[in-house]
Amino acid sequence: MSDADELFLKIIAREIPAEIVHETETTLAFRDIAPQARVHVLVVPKTRYRNLAELAAADPQLLADVVATCATVAEKEGITGSGYRVVFNTDSDAGQTVFHVHAHVLGGEPLAHFGG
Ligand code: C5P
Repeated sequence: MSDADELFLKIIAREIPAEIVHETETTLAFRDIAPQARVHVLVVPKTRYRNLAELAAADPQLLADVVATCATVAEKEGITGSGYRVVFNTDSDAGQTVFHVHAHVLGGEPLAHFGG
């Protein structure tokens, strides 16, 4: 595991500062340091898995906890009425840079459309 991949464990341990938005027994939500939308929050499981596939295979309940925390964050941020996006960048083609699985919660403004 590289230093970059340990980053979120250090945020969870409060060894590196972050603006925490919500916390549960199993997950932590904090603001992205380089926001790509007015609301941009990362949601991580407190146990590190490299990516979405590893988390889904190893602990489906923990994945459900992460997704539930995304919905809670959207409510706390007041963006459920206008809509929001949840993204798991997974491995190189998607540009994943931190290999501790995380969901991006994006909203608070119209987002560029992608998909069909
Ligand atoms: O999906 P990806 O791996 O690219 O996302 C990593 C995210 O972690 C980036 O959006 C980056 O801005 C964020 N980050 C952060 N705090 C740090 C380092 C990276 O919020 N100290």
